Amino acid sequence: MEIKPFEKKVWLSSPTMHGDELKYVTEAYETNWMSTVGKNINEVERLTCEKVGCKYAVALSAGTAALHLAVKLAGVKPGDKVFCTDMTFAATVNPVLYEKGEPVFIDTEYDTWNMDPKALEKAFEIYPDTKVVVVANLYGVPGKMDEIGEICKKHGAVMIEDAAESLGATYKGRQTGTFGTYNAISFNGNKIITGSSGGMLLTDDLDAANKARKWSTQSREDAPWYQHEEVGYNYRMSNVIAGVVRGQYPHLDEHIAQKKAIYMRYKEGFKGLPVSMNPYDESICEPNFWLSCMIIDKDAMCKQVRSDNEACYISEKGKSCPTEILEKFAAYNAEGRPIWKPMHMQPIYRMNPFITREGNGRARTNAYIAGGCSDVGADIYARGLCLPSDNKMTAEEQDMIIEIIRSCFE
Ligand SMILES: *Cc1c(COP(=O)(O)O)cnc(C)c1O
Repeated sequence: MEIKPFEKKVWLSSPTMHGDELKYVTEAYETNWMSTVGKNINEVERLTCEKVGCKYAVALSAGTAALHLAVKLAGVKPGDKVFCTDMTFAATVNPVLYEKGEPVFIDTEYDTWNMDPKALEKAFEIYPDTKVVVVANLYGVPGKMDEIGEICKKHGAVMIEDAAESLGATYKGRQTGTFGTYNAISFNGNKIITGSSGGMLLTDDLDAANKARKWSTQSREDAPWYQHEEVGYNYRMSNVIAGVVRGQYPHLDEHIAQKKAIYMRYKEGFKGLPVSMNPYDESICEPNFWLSCMIIDKDAMCKQVRSDNEACYISEKGKSCPTEILEKFAAYNAEGRPIWKPMHMQPIYRMNPFITREGNGRARTNAYIAGGCSDVGADIYARGLCLPSDNKMTAEEQDMIIEIIRSCFE
């Protein structure tokens, strides 16, 4: 196959509209419900409870807002340690800082690329008083929810589930976004369904849902005037945004099916190459396949070095690296992305504890230096990348992407 640049850019993951979104937005406009109250909001909350199987859903301006309110509901106070997924988008963790808590990063496991229960257990050994755990499902693949849930229970800790990337994914038949006491989903523009922005807090606790509703609308007390007893936020979802989400919901399963087909096509196309896809155990979970990712075998990595804001590599026959592949994607007008850089490697979090299966991940052991790598997050970050996963990508375009990757290993 001759590789040539795409005329139309092939995206990592872009919004896919279907028509009804405009109908509901127009309805909001024509009935003048152009605020944070209205039928679209009620409907998307109802649809979410119906789909996910939670009792209450509170529609908010963003997934990050949902996570912030979840951290508040979990009772995080200044100085409290909070165990957090390490290899995730920063929005999982930043809300802990909003409440002046201290994130402690828990290393990743290779089976699902999520929080390692063994490292979490280790963290409770080191910081036994920790009372809150924030766990994300990366790229739509559920983490080891049973193990993590058990450990939280054993230590009396509250679990917050960041299901922003995994709406519609199931773990042992149960939807993600229901495993935590408080859970967050997102309708950001690149997620599996979108409102252009928006998010939700999900919980089975009526009291918590009511508090979130109140906090998200400036914490107004029941009085004839603006009366306030606690700090408030302007976090409620707009009825216009909710119209977009409402129009998207009927297409969630269709988007998942398209994303799954993309994942399977990559998997098939990579046969014979020294790479594999982001893994999951099909006997335990069904991801939503939001992003397809790949990881290069250790012995097929050419030399690659990354500074804080640049990368370079030395090209080698039969080998490649994420930097080479991403540069080639860009040259052919396709969008890939590095694996989300782990939080323990981020300058802002350089002083925060990082716990691996072995214990303190900040103290590099001899085993680590000798190549018996104990920092799983850094390893996946070095060898992995997110592939173009747009559900509007054609099979021909995807074949070309696969061919581009193949050429990197020649
Ligand atoms: C997108 C995302 C968020 C934040 O959601 P927003 O709606 O963009 O605020 C949080 N966590 C993860 C893992 C995400 O991917």
